[in-house]
Amino acid sequence: MTGNGASAEFAVVGAGIVGIATALQLQRDGHDVALYDPDPPGQGCSFGNCGGICIGSMTPVGTPGILKDVPAMLLDRQSPLSIDWRYLPRLAPWLWKFVQASRPGRVEAISIALNRMLTDSYEAYQPLLRSAGASDLFRRIGLLYVYRSKESFRRARWGHDMRARRGVRVEYLDGNEVAQLEPALAPVFTHGVFIPDSGHVTNPGRLSEVLAEDFVRQGGTIRRERVMGFADFAADGPRALVSDAGTRPIGQVVIAAGAYSRPLAKALGSDVPLDTERGYHAMLEAPGVELRIPLMSGEGKFGITPMEHGLRLAGTVELAGVDAPPNWRRAEILIEQTRPMFKALGTDKAKFWMGRRPSMPDSLPVIGRSPRHRNAWFAFGHGHLGLTLGAATGRLIADLVAGRPPSVDAAPYRADRF
Ligand SMILES: Cc1cc2nc3c(=O)[nH]c(=O)nc-3n(C[C@H](O)[C@H](O)[C@H](O)COP(=O)(O)OP(=O)(O)OC[C@H]3O[C@@H](n4cnc5c(N)ncnc54)[C@H](O)[C@@H]3O)c2cc1C
Repeated sequence: MTGNGASAEFAVVGAGIVGIATALQLQRDGHDVALYDPDPPGQGCSFGNCGGICIGSMTPVGTPGILKDVPAMLLDRQSPLSIDWRYLPRLAPWLWKFVQASRPGRVEAISIALNRMLTDSYEAYQPLLRSAGASDLFRRIGLLYVYRSKESFRRARWGHDMRARRGVRVEYLDGNEVAQLEPALAPVFTHGVFIPDSGHVTNPGRLSEVLAEDFVRQGGTIRRERVMGFADFAADGPRALVSDAGTRPIGQVVIAAGAYSRPLAKALGSDVPLDTERGYHAMLEAPGVELRIPLMSGEGKFGITPMEHGLRLAGTVELAGVDAPPNWRRAEILIEQTRPMFKALGTDKAKFWMGRRPSMPDSLPVIGRSPRHRNAWFAFGHGHLGLTLGAATGRLIADLVAGRPPSVDAAPYRADRF
């Protein structure tokens, strides 16, 4: 897919949802933009996520509570967290920063910063969807957390209280109310929490595709090239990028290569502690249940989302680096844990997928100008929230590039905060 740009002023590296949305926002400001990715748009982590536009998800992954739970989680083979012990020596510096970011005061500050971007993350997509004729992909019917015991609800309560403190509408339900709201569920739940303003995308892979098509329609260029580094450094930064197809002149560049952004940022002089939290999905094409509202399993910590092409069970965290092969047992666990949640569930036609979340130890993305080069920008590290924050990230980058006062303060997302 190629548009008409000859020598693009703005190179965006990575055509996941963050890169695509950033390219579109820059294009709307009149920039001549080229998107670089060896793969077709949206085939990375943005392809198989849970689809949540998670307005209320400002609680970071690292919290004082999770640190207490980790030892038991690692002993449980069905747990939402697994670590490949062979990867531990390389992961250790990231884990240490994760622990430091999990202190109560830090968690409060992180949630405030995340919430600023989350608040209008749904609205930020709307102009992009209208232009692409893809508004049908978004729905705003809420998110229902379900709990099978008072104890698991009690452990999750602080997170919901934090949502409420940040101004998100939170409705507490008993078992009967859960059953009324979602009749497909088996009567095994004692508590529920409904977030009415949460939204979801009914096919995240198609979202990236249609937005990328619109980008090309508006004159953007997609280059199926892997970017390896930068060249021709001038006072304001690189004047060329080096890809597997050769050297190309650039005016400015945005690094949006998801979990693969670290070496590219390093080539621009910034060593950021980016790693990956891998997650899995099981896609049920014939589930035999009509789910009305997306669910989050309180115990399994994964989502269940009704998609246009079936039911998607997606989530959990595996710390094993970007290169390790998938462990499909992690996807089977999703099915095993979902089966008892429904009165009936067809799991015959399950398709498995693994994706690499680009994760910073403090759950905050890196968004803004490179600390070293005026013509280089960073937009990566969105962890569990990259789909939600894609359009808002693009808008923030476009505002910063244009020198407009941004709608959110970008300081918490700076690359050199560690
Ligand atoms: C199981 C699971 C469930 C999730 N659920 C949700 C959810 O409900 N809501 C939510 O908001 N988020 C969710 N996420 C997180 C979300 O999917 C990610 O945060 C998001 O997709 C990251 O987008 P990205 O564009 O940064 O990365 P990616 O989509 O991975 O895109 C990066 C792109 O960069 C390209 N690239 C890499 N290296 C180079 C290079 N050298 N040169 C050129 N291109 C390169 C890759 O090919 C890729 O296409 C989930 C993730 C997982 C795994």
